[in-house]
This record gives sequence, C-alpha cells and structure tokens, in this order.
Amino acid sequence: MEKKNIDWSNIGFGYMQTDKRYVSNYKNGAWDEGMLTEDANVVISECAGVLQYAQTCFEGLKAYTTEDGHIVTFRPELNAKRMVDSAQRLCMPVFPEDRFIDAVQKVVEANAAYVPPYGSGATLYLRPYMFGSNPVIGVKPADEYQFRLFATPVGPYFKGGAKPITIRVCDYDRAAPHGTGHIKAGLNYAMSLYAITDAHAQGYDENMYLDSATRTKIEETGGANFIFVTKDGKVVTPKSDTILPSITRRSLMYVAKEYLGMEVEEREVLFEEIKDFAECGLCGTAAVISPVGKVVNHGEEICFPSGMDDMGPVTKKLYDTLTGIQMGRIEAPEGWIKVIK
Ligand SMILES: *Cc1c(COP(=O)(O)O)cnc(C)c1O
Repeated sequence: MEKKNIDWSNIGFGYMQTDKRYVSNYKNGAWDEGMLTEDANVVISECAGVLQYAQTCFEGLKAYTTEDGHIVTFRPELNAKRMVDSAQRLCMPVFPEDRFIDAVQKVVEANAAYVPPYGSGATLYLRPYMFGSNPVIGVKPADEYQFRLFATPVGPYFKGGAKPITIRVCDYDRAAPHGTGHIKAGLNYAMSLYAITDAHAQGYDENMYLDSATRTKIEETGGANFIFVTKDGKVVTPKSDTILPSITRRSLMYVAKEYLGMEVEEREVLFEEIKDFAECGLCGTAAVISPVGKVVNHGEEICFPSGMDDMGPVTKKLYDTLTGIQMGRIEAPEGWIKVIK
C-alpha cells in the first residue's frame, strides 16, 4: 500500500479529510447494517435534535504504526464501552460495542494510506460520534440517530519535545455534581470554550477545574485528567464522579503500579495539597502526558520542583513506558494493543 504524500512530521492537530468514513443510522428502534462512505458531509433536518438540544456524544482514539510495521489501535474496547455510558446518560440508543470495534477496523483499513509511519510522531486520530438526527422541537430525546467514525492524520502533539505548561485555577465550572462531567458529551466542551478562550487570553495554557460544590478539590482540565507525583514517589490521581474517566490515565496508573513498581492512589485530592507534590501531568489520548510546571491560583504561583524546562523524572518514565508499550517496544499487557493489519 502506497502511503499518501504527507509531510508527517509537520502536520498539526487539525482536520484533514481522508478517503472513507463509517456511517450507521438508527431508525424505528434499530441500527442499520452500516457502511463505509466517501461522503464527508452530514445532511440533516434544520430541526435535528443535535442542533437544537445538543444530543450528541463522541470518542477519540488513535491508530498508528508500531516498530514492527503493524497498524494498531490502543484499547479501543474501552472507548466502545465509554460511548455506551455516554449514550445512556443522554437517552441515546447504544451503539453495540462489537460494532464500534468493527467500525474502527473498517475505517483504519480503508484509510491505511493515511496512517503515519513509525517514528514520525504523527498518528491517525479516530473520531467516533453519534447524534440525534430527526426533527425535535419539544424537548425530548430524538427518535433517529446517526453514528459516524472518521479518521484524520494528526501531527506530533509536541513539536520539539514536551515543554511544561502553565495552568490556572478556573473560576468557571466544567461539571456539576450529578451532572454530565463523567461522560464524553459535546455539551461539556461547549460550556468550557469561554473559560479556555479566556485562559489563553490571560496567557495560560489550560484551566484547572475544581469541584463545583466546594471548590476545594482538584478535578481535571477541559480535556485531560491529572496525575501527580508525591515527593516520596507515589502516583496520585483525583477520584470524583464528575471527572471523565481517561483511558490514558487509567493505563498510566496501571503502568506505574505493574511496570514501575510504584505506589498508586486514586482518591480525592485537595487543592491545598498541590504545593506538596513533586510533579504534575495532564493525561489524554492526544499528548499522552503534558507536563505541568506551574499552577496559578488568582495570582499565587505554585511551581512544581520539576520546573519549567523538562518533564519531571517520574512523569518522563511513565511517558516513556506507556508510549513504549503503545509502539511495541515494550511488551503490552494482555489485550491492550489491537492489531488492525
Ligand atoms: C477525552 C477526555 C479526557 C482524556 O481521555 P482519554 O481517554 O485519555 O483520551 C479527559 N478529560 C475529558 C474531559 C475528556 O473529554
């Protein structure tokens, strides 16, 4: 298979249309059999449920080339399961997990020419999503839905190495107690746009959201979970019902314990504790880990001992181990790597 003529090391994190995407429609209480299509456009009613009342959820995962030349994805069944949870919370029909995996397989195979080569740092980002598609004007769930999955090549998240970022404690909330913070819903992102635009305007890279009920506990950023490293070498991650359960974070906690022999804790983390941590990182599919060098709380600067030049040593070790597992340089736990071809 001939690869597309793309400057893999210099593409950004943006949308590039690829050849094929998967579509399945839900109508009269059932999903159709689904198919690949070349049509990159969605045509729906002006009154579609998604357009009026934001009934939509999504996922994000990557396909990439391993050291031995296979095209693989990382733990896609966790994305399939999380999309079931998201759909149920939004009163949408569940897209079956085995069919989700099949759609991943088909889309990656059909766009294999867009999967960046090993070592380029680039990946083929996969975006499964579903939305209410029939007209809805009185507030209620739609009756018809569309599931789609497209692929777009994305560049290395950090060009020239991961430099620590500066984040601020945010005065806006991302998620309410008993709300939708734990599912991957577009609505959680819509309401975070004002806060992130404002953070960027003020010179910060990201927002740290605290729990909205008490504003004393650390939750996450707009699109990534936190991990912290204590001065005595424990890896700590916040536990909360209003955090999106990141697959990267869950994998890193496993790697810390089982590969690096570290003590790990998933528990409530008070904002007060932050000055005592040695390292801090943000975890998500796109960057795996972004090191955080500094947190600013209304003018008060909290600087991690790892500094603003490099990833902290434990963060680096976690990053190298997980990316080593993903790329096939380190043996993966059973079932983590799904070979596409
Ligand atoms: C997608 C997402 C993450 C990261 O999850 P991964 O499964 O690691 O990609 C973290 N927080 C939020 C709010 C998200 O939407």
